[in-house]
Formats: sequence, C-alpha cells, structure tokens
Amino acid sequence: MDKPALVSLTLDDGLRCQFEQAVPILDQYGFSATFFLVANTDPIHTDGVKHPDWRKTDWSERDIQFFKGMIQRGHEIGAHSVHHRHPFLDDDPKGEAEGAKQWIESRLAVEIPSYCYPFYYITEPIKNAVITAGYKQARWGARDSYYTPQSFLDWFGVDCHQISNNENVGRWVRPDCWHVLTFHGIGDEQDGWEPIPVAEFARQVAELAKLRDSGAVEVVTFKDGADRLRGRDNAPPPPAATLSQ
Ligand SMILES: [Zn+2]
Repeated sequence: MDKPALVSLTLDDGLRCQFEQAVPILDQYGFSATFFLVANTDPIHTDGVKHPDWRKTDWSERDIQFFKGMIQRGHEIGAHSVHHRHPFLDDDPKGEAEGAKQWIESRLAVEIPSYCYPFYYITEPIKNAVITAGYKQARWGARDSYYTPQSFLDWFGVDCHQISNNENVGRWVRPDCWHVLTFHGIGDEQDGWEPIPVAEFARQVAELAKLRDSGAVEVVTFKDGADRLRGRDNAPPPPAATLSQ
C-alpha cells in the first residue's frame, strides 16, 4: 500500500473566526493544525489594506488560556510578525521576526519554531532575520507547490497551496508527499481574507477525515511535517543559511 500523504493545515492572521469556527471542527476530528498569530494587542487585523474590520486575537488573558488549551490538544502556534504591515516588514525585519517570537513565547511558555511571512512577502533581509531569530522553518506562498520525498526543501521558504471554495480534497493526498495548505477567513467577507464559508470548511475537513480513516492521509502540524521530511533517509541536506554579514 502507498505511504499516506502528509497534510499540514495552516491558518494565518490569528482571526477570531478561526478560533470560533475552525478549531471546534478540527477538534471534532482530532486534527492538529498550525495557527500563525500576529503578535500585537490590536483587536482588529490592521494590515494596511482596505477591507472590512477583521476581528483577531487581542492577546487577552482569556485568549492566552485558549491558545494554551489548543497547544495541549496538539495544535501548533506559530508567529506571523508583530505588525503585519508595510513598511515595518522592510524597515525592521529583525524586530518583526524576533519580536514576534519573543512576544508569543513569553505569553505561551513554549518554543515557537515556525514563522509565516505576511503577504507571502520574502526579501533576503527578511528571510535572514527569520533565520537569525532562531526559527526552524518558515512558510510563504502560495505557489501551489507540494513536496515529494525527492524535493529540495528550503526550510525558510516552504510553499503552500491556498484553499479555495469547492476544492476537491483528493488533490491534497498524493501518496508520500507533503502538502501544506493555507486558510485565512473562515466565514464571510467580515471574517478575513479570501474567506471559506464555515460549511465548506466543515465539508473539506470531513472529506479529509474520511481519507485519514482509510489510511491515505496523515494530518500533522507544520512543524511536525517539516521534522518528518528532515528525518527522511533520502532527504537532502537543508540549504545553507545566507547570512549577509
Ligand atoms: Zn497574513
């Protein structure tokens, strides 16, 4: 029998809709996912782009307790910068990468090894800041890549496939390959960028659960997916870091 596909579900921006709508559905099926949170107390996702007010975590004590519970149930919390805004990303790449790691680690008391580049935007200084901050892997997107056992993997430039409506979930399950999938809003236009309706999210997760139950899929966090690929006997060595100084 084919080896199962490895699937990592990632959700960006720390949106409230994800905690209210997606987490209960994921928990219902025992799926662990990775949530990339922005490290500031603004209750609105102010990314500088015109759109409705999208509610996000404000890092209240209540939210922090909720995140700790998620971690205990197997979810991963990752970092998604401090401001999620231009020009901070270019002007202070160190502050955005290192600041987000320290902010989240100090509140959740766990190591945060995964980073996600806001706006899928990478430059050499930004990438180097993420490496220097001590992350182990970082995700951008969304160029629809997936990874075969032979793929060359840049751990600080892991691509993803951004989920849309009415997707055939079977696309995500090429045997023995790693698929990193990305969601933003779960709900409607008021909830986040390029939203997936809750019922559609539930349908996709239920389909995935059927595939998991048949042995075709294993769902793991982004961190665990990266660790699994690093551990493969035939995995190539990670690329050299390109620290410019
Ligand atoms: Zn984002």
